[in-house]
Amino acid sequence: MTMLPLADRHGRTATDLRVSLTDRCNLRCSYCMPAEGLDWLPHHEALTDEEVVRLISIGVERLGITEVRFTGGEPLLRRGLSGIIAATKALEPVPEVSLTTNALGLERTAVALAAAGLDRVNVSLDTIRAEDFATITRRDRLDDVIRGIEAATAAGLDPVKVNAVLMPGVNDDQAPELLGWCLERGLHLRFIEQMPLDAQHAWERSAMITADQIVASLQTRFTLNPSTKSRGSAPAEEFLVDDGPLTVGVIASVTRPFCGDCDRVRLTADGQIVNCLFAREESDLRTPMRAGATDDELAGLWLAAVLGKLPGHGIDDPSFLQPDRPMSAIGG
Ligand code: SAM
Ligand code: SF4
Repeated sequence: MTMLPLADRHGRTATDLRVSLTDRCNLRCSYCMPAEGLDWLPHHEALTDEEVVRLISIGVERLGITEVRFTGGEPLLRRGLSGIIAATKALEPVPEVSLTTNALGLERTAVALAAAGLDRVNVSLDTIRAEDFATITRRDRLDDVIRGIEAATAAGLDPVKVNAVLMPGVNDDQAPELLGWCLERGLHLRFIEQMPLDAQHAWERSAMITADQIVASLQTRFTLNPSTKSRGSAPAEEFLVDDGPLTVGVIASVTRPFCGDCDRVRLTADGQIVNCLFAREESDLRTPMRAGATDDELAGLWLAAVLGKLPGHGIDDPSFLQPDRPMSAIGG
């Protein structure tokens, strides 16, 4: 089959597909969701397992997708997750398959997910203090997350990365502690600047902990030197910790955006193609798919969607408007 790259008008090609498997979640991280949760997608609007796999197949077999990351909401809540992973790993050319998760339940599922073909996992963990974990996520589940991380490592998922967001007045003084904890366990830690993607629209730039502040805070305990390895399209700036070889990453989505090197495209749980977390436009693949569109037709719609990808997210632009859907609904 001829491979048609998902190229846009700004010289970029999307090869990294982020698939949201659900908008639901069992945590309520304050930077992501309100305490009461959100109006979840009605069941009939969400893609079935077969529909998800069909769209991933089109992406991998016709459109040059080489990496597939499952996310949400919380992807471990998707009952068919193992089957979707196995079907994705059965495609040719075989894509890299990873998962971004809060790790609740990973203790029970890590072995099965690895057996299904999962290559890597990113776990979100902002603090190793139980009380602060409960404040940030509004659930007292730190122990379950830690057991999930241990199970992922034991199941051979490699690397296990940890994603952390720092919140002013809650855990912004804990960056060195979290890094020390991750280094001891061979986990690769990355800090993410808080982005305006919360459902409550409460984000304020002045209250955000910046990448420079994160690095300065880590330097109170560790020596950090920029890694000389090429960053490519990876969003994280990597630093060697105490002369290496271990590193820590900082993702400065707001203060040092990396849109020029972006190779991502997103598929929402209800079958919309979204070019960027901050895009205000979505391209519907579910309606034509359910109306009988062929794989060729769906590939054509997907190509047209990516062609229109904007050059940048524009958070710094005074006219910036937060997208209607929060990150948990787009797929973070
Ligand atoms: N529930 C899974 C998890 O937490 O890993 C996957 C979905 S979550 C939306 C994906 C990632 O987005 C997590 O690492 C989370 O910390 C991050 N995230 C959520 N809201 C964010 C925000 N407003 N700014 C920066 N990162 C955010
Ligand atoms: Fe759930 Fe992940 Fe959002 Fe936290 S960041 S509420 S775990 S979707």
